[in-house]
Amino acid sequence: MNPLELTGRTRLHVVQPEGLRCALHRDAVAPFMAMRAAAARAGIDLEAASAFRHFDRQREIWNAKFRGERPILDAAGRPLEALALSEAARIEAILQWSALPGASRHHWGTDLDVIDRAAMSPGYVVRLMDDEYVAGGVFANLSAWLDRHMRRFGFYRPYATGTGGIRPEPWHLSYAPIARRAIRELDLATLAEALLGQGVAGENEILARLPGIHRRYVRAVDAPPRMRSRWARRGTAVR
Ligand SMILES: [Zn+2]
Repeated sequence: MNPLELTGRTRLHVVQPEGLRCALHRDAVAPFMAMRAAAARAGIDLEAASAFRHFDRQREIWNAKFRGERPILDAAGRPLEALALSEAARIEAILQWSALPGASRHHWGTDLDVIDRAAMSPGYVVRLMDDEYVAGGVFANLSAWLDRHMRRFGFYRPYATGTGGIRPEPWHLSYAPIARRAIRELDLATLAEALLGQGVAGENEILARLPGIHRRYVRAVDAPPRMRSRWARRGTAVR
């Protein structure tokens, strides 16, 4: 991927096929559709609640949180008073829950947040929280199905364990054949270049802390497992 694609400043690498509510990397569409068809045979209506996100959208979310216009939470999920925190503390708090613009894996189009529409009662509002994906939760069945089958289609969970700075996100899947290259390509210089003068709130403080942010929030994710199916190799997708 080129620097614009890696940091979400273009849409040229993504497509939104009929029947899908969000855009995905052009090479991740066929594997995702195949996984969706397999899930449907198990009674699961696998849907992407969110997939590709543009840099501008991530900046809107970031800036609203930074300026106290949108709630920010501490590590335990308790609300924080954004404007009462130093810029450094605010950045740390936001990064627990939201990616820095340019540093979101959603920019790649390879990553998506999944739900099972068939398991939802009418009017159910998706929260994307842990309790929905564990035993007894509305998406527990989806989560167990993914554990068994997603690897066959090239997908895995980069935030399964929360080893880096990002909390575990059982809903967040990644198409490994492309994402495993993207994470190497999104180096510190590429990220810094994407942020410079782009109107991201807290820019100076962010740039000063960028090596640590890059290490903890971009690089420190779970590595993809070994995969052997045809969907798990690059170059299998229909363009
Ligand atoms: Zn996600």
